[in-house]
Amino acid sequence: MQITILGAAGEVTGSGYLVQTARANVLIDFGMFQGRGAGDEKNREIDPVVPARLDAVVLTHAHLDHVGRLPLLVGLACAVHATHASCALAELILRDSAKIQEGDAVRENRSKERTGATPDAVALYGTAEVDAIVSRMRGHEYEQWIEVADGITARFQDAGHILGSASVELRVTEGGSTKTVVFSGDVGQKCMPILRDPVPCPPADLVFLESTYGDRNHRPAEETFAELRAILEQSAWQKRKVLVPSFAVGRAQLLLHVLAEIARDGRSPVVPVYLDSPMAIRATEIYSKFPDDFDDESRGLARSGQARREFANVNLCVTPQQSRDLNESWDPAIVIAGSGMCDGGRILHHLRHNLWRHGVQVLLTSFMGQGSLGRKLVDGAQSVRIFREDVVVRADVRTVGGLSAHAGQGGLIEWFMGTSKKPAAPRVVLTHGEDRQRGVLAQALTGMGGCTVIQPKRFEVIEI
Ligand SMILES: [Zn+2]
Repeated sequence: MQITILGAAGEVTGSGYLVQTARANVLIDFGMFQGRGAGDEKNREIDPVVPARLDAVVLTHAHLDHVGRLPLLVGLACAVHATHASCALAELILRDSAKIQEGDAVRENRSKERTGATPDAVALYGTAEVDAIVSRMRGHEYEQWIEVADGITARFQDAGHILGSASVELRVTEGGSTKTVVFSGDVGQKCMPILRDPVPCPPADLVFLESTYGDRNHRPAEETFAELRAILEQSAWQKRKVLVPSFAVGRAQLLLHVLAEIARDGRSPVVPVYLDSPMAIRATEIYSKFPDDFDDESRGLARSGQARREFANVNLCVTPQQSRDLNESWDPAIVIAGSGMCDGGRILHHLRHNLWRHGVQVLLTSFMGQGSLGRKLVDGAQSVRIFREDVVVRADVRTVGGLSAHAGQGGLIEWFMGTSKKPAAPRVVLTHGEDRQRGVLAQALTGMGGCTVIQPKRFEVIEI
């Protein structure tokens, strides 16, 4: 068996692995390259790496950096296996991505036409390609072994990262011997609301481990949530308008969970909550369909109908006009809007209309990439440029760190050690982390002894 690394090698996007035996070709994830320097060409580059015949695709979870290039596999004739919830979320995320790709191509062509150039921009993919992928998706339960190709079975184990997220355990039989390979997917933090804790890595011959936060530990989740609650309760007493930029999948549902808890406690005045993101609204609806994947507390709230009653109290902004009305309002409110890093979406309008005002609060809870507007706010910018206008920052900007959907170094090591207190595998391959982060994690793992650590480059082939 050989496994080719297709992306997320020394970076945090473009996850993908090609598992090949004499009898089968199986793809694990096929994510989009995102962020600065992720050229379109890198995303379009398919032929050199993916064979014409694939027997199966297996997905760890629905984030775009793990599923975003699937629609490029024109003529894909095999099943795409994932947990039930991942199938639902992947459809939402891929449809949104197709709309963005199509919109970008139209805009680029318009601008080319204005300059007299040939309008030759083509969308990376569109809705038709996504339809084709969605029709191939097959949903599965956690912990069930499924045959995905000749000689290859797979099992999903909860990774506690977003709804439906999983580590994938593959058993590959070749020439009379069976090997176990585990792909961690993105590993979540323990003790996060809504989700269950990650299931530790089972014993394996080879493990692929993410390393996004391989160089640091998050502070304990309880401290982070206590700080978040304290800020929100204080702003309720102060009758503030609070703007919370948020990713649509995962973060928005976590924020709603915390706000529902605050309302239940009743220690601070009730402030209307607005979810101003059609995609976050749809993602929240999908979350509500999979209570069996929740932790005990959230499953109880869902089963008793309380979660539904509490969600009914949230004001949903579906239309742009509803969002615009909210832009102008000076009333106390908590507004959750995308995008998470403030580099697009409706949050930009909210910031433009409110950042200059004393008394407004901006609550930053997400990772903010270099160069994003969110990062400028975290760094204490006095003025920022939004829609080609300078806007002075008079709002109170607060940052709450530690809410990451990724485990820190300690969590990654704990996951990899499994339940037997010795490394789950003799070889571990570090991916999905920038070189510095995975380098520090590699040192920590090597120092513990008992395993060889590999830090591959893109297209490197691991033999087993
Ligand atoms: Zn992820």
